[in-house]
Amino acid sequence: MEKAIVIRYAEIHLKGRNRGMFERAFLKNIENALNGISLTITKMHGREVISNFSKFDEPEIVARLKKVPGIHSFSVCNVVSTSIDNIKKAVLDISKNLVGTFKVETNRADKTFQIASNMFSAEAGGWVLDQNPNLTVRLNNPDAIIYNDIREEGKTFVFENSILGVGGMPVGTAGEGLLLLSGGIDSPVAGYMACKRGVKVSAIHFESPPYTNEGARQKVLNLAKIVAGYNGTTKVFVVSTTKIQEQIHNKCNAEFGITLLRRFMLQIAERVAQAEGIKMLVTGESLGQVASQTIESMTTISEAMQTNIPVIKPLVCFDKEETVELAKKIGSYEISIQPFADCCTVFLPKDPATRPKLEKVKKEEARLNREDLIEEAIKTMQIVTIKP
Ligand code: ATP
Ligand code: MG
Repeated sequence: MEKAIVIRYAEIHLKGRNRGMFERAFLKNIENALNGISLTITKMHGREVISNFSKFDEPEIVARLKKVPGIHSFSVCNVVSTSIDNIKKAVLDISKNLVGTFKVETNRADKTFQIASNMFSAEAGGWVLDQNPNLTVRLNNPDAIIYNDIREEGKTFVFENSILGVGGMPVGTAGEGLLLLSGGIDSPVAGYMACKRGVKVSAIHFESPPYTNEGARQKVLNLAKIVAGYNGTTKVFVVSTTKIQEQIHNKCNAEFGITLLRRFMLQIAERVAQAEGIKMLVTGESLGQVASQTIESMTTISEAMQTNIPVIKPLVCFDKEETVELAKKIGSYEISIQPFADCCTVFLPKDPATRPKLEKVKKEEARLNREDLIEEAIKTMQIVTIKP
């Protein structure tokens, strides 16, 4: 029996005049995600329909669609040219995988189809029951529902369940963002959340060799690959903060070490974003999670920024538990918990300031040649391209 996958989009239907832009991005992203698999994509009533694929490719297509932001849900269907007999056979075919209770539901967009929807549902259900004595019809809360979608084009789509997609908006429709990506649990999840909201993400990672090693970098690139699963091809900028950290360590009060380092990170990130034409920064910060994430710390840290580029913090009101749950869902958790030193754990002060006063921090910072250090760090930048 001919198969098709019907894809429904999430929030795009709320859009008005700019809807076309969202729909084009949606289609383009689906095409990119399915790149390399032989199939056809057509549009039908605000849905994308995938057909002409080999059944051997079906699991791979399903796995990839599960990661495309903007998809609300999709269904693998039997497609038949509309006739009472054809639809019944398609329903029977699907019922073979079922046990327990079921019912049939029919949506008749094609009003030339002779029988009213609920009458046809009853007829098809009864017929399936005759052929398949293991099943029982139950109208309230059955184990399974078989749907018939009788379209105007003379085709009917018959399917059992819908697979939930990521939801959100097509990547790219919310602009580009630069994700500050560490080896921790939070920032890959923040990257995923940004993609889901339509942001095309590039990442910047700060390392401090030789205090951090090649394994630590590889770990971050592996995390970037998880994000790339949703985001598509992802650029990662790797910048060394070794010199900055040594200078902070040697010249400044240890209490403010993390605050100072974070101020440098933001300034480097905003410059890279500016050079790349990227319009927002994205971080994995969560309010009150650690000393550097109290509102006082965040305020003192963000004061260093020299542009008004917004900093998006998707996890700002998440509990750690909620973030961990998402990290497990997207597959980043197992990578994040691998024990490699991060640049922030190098020279970590025992008692970092939880409410670093701006005047004190600036006084410490004045011992450093801020501009030279930033420029030198940016010169160390390497760009790695990560494919999904
Ligand atoms: P994460 O799990 O994301 O590392 P965390 O709870 O460890 O989060 P911090 O280490 O305080 O939090 O970092 C806060 C945010 O700063 C991170 O979510 C990330 O966006 C950014 N950040 C921290 N370290 C780095 C790094 N080495 N490179 C790039 N960004 C970083
Ligand atoms: Mg971290």
